[in-house]
Amino acid sequence: AAASESGGVASYHQVLDQQSLRRLQLGTELEQAMADGQISVVFQPIIDARTSDIVSAETLVRWAHPRFGAIPPDDFIHLAEQIGRIGPLTDHVLDLALARCRRWLDQDIALSVAVNLSARCLSEPDLVERVQRALRRHGVPGELLILELTEGSVVDDSVRSSTVLADLHALGLRLSMDDFGTGYSSLSQLRQLPIDEVKIDKSFVLGMSTSQGESFIARSIIELAHNLGLRVVAEGVEDELTRKLLTEMGCDKLQGFLISRPLPDDKLEKWLLARTG
Ligand code: C2E
Ligand code: CA
Ligand code: CA
Ligand code: CA
Repeated sequence: AAASESGGVASYHQVLDQQSLRRLQLGTELEQAMADGQISVVFQPIIDARTSDIVSAETLVRWAHPRFGAIPPDDFIHLAEQIGRIGPLTDHVLDLALARCRRWLDQDIALSVAVNLSARCLSEPDLVERVQRALRRHGVPGELLILELTEGSVVDDSVRSSTVLADLHALGLRLSMDDFGTGYSSLSQLRQLPIDEVKIDKSFVLGMSTSQGESFIARSIIELAHNLGLRVVAEGVEDELTRKLLTEMGCDKLQGFLISRPLPDDKLEKWLLARTG
């Protein structure tokens, strides 16, 4: 964002300086934070729209900073990308997610776990190997892992021309196109990539109960995705009307505060037990 020409430039720069200082500090602290256990994950259940059965859980990273308090992922993911530390952070989150998935398996709960993958990660030459090693280390079959790719990451030319998506797919895991509808890719591009599902961005889903325009977008994405043989997940489902509309439209899976907030692992286990009886 540029400073306005009508003044306020000095204060803009002051703010910028404070922000960049804080970011620099956070950057240097990130690695230590992982070692100290300040970086944890929560899991948000995703259910089958028709049966309401839980089918997977999305892993969302959390940073409990000793002085700044809870730092939202939208603040430090971008930072980690910029300072080249998104690889270690992703490995850390993947490790926590697969360890949990293994524990569910040991309790006879075959629940898939979804992990977010930043654009930057797709161009790391050892990504596929790292994912494969993590699966082996935890004894989790690839079939139980879903990688959520932000839409921007997939349309990148270097990614499209490389075999990274095909190689990940070959591990048996599923690829999900996150934040669908907000970027530049088209469904015809999806057809050429080994993508299994799309997630309708919550910016559309949140408006569905009040805006026909948003509902139309959701319906269009669902129909087109189904025509391409892809599953569809809606995130940001907050009310019953939206849930009903999406289910009628044939949306396959639902995620959002209506179903459950993201939960720490012990709370998720209680949530699972309460639902399965
Ligand atoms: P995302 O992947 O689109 O994740 C969904 C976000 O929507 C989460 O925010 C979740 O808490 C929130 N959400 C879920 N249901 C609802 C709802 O019904 N209403 C509303 N208003 N929001 C809902 P969160 O946890 O703050 O994560 C923000 C973003 O940070 C994520 O967006 C994802 O892009 C990124 N992120 C989170 N964890 C990771 C990670 O481990 N790795 C990477 N690379 N990115 C991550
Ligand atoms: Ca996601
Ligand atoms: Ca999303
Ligand atoms: Ca998002």
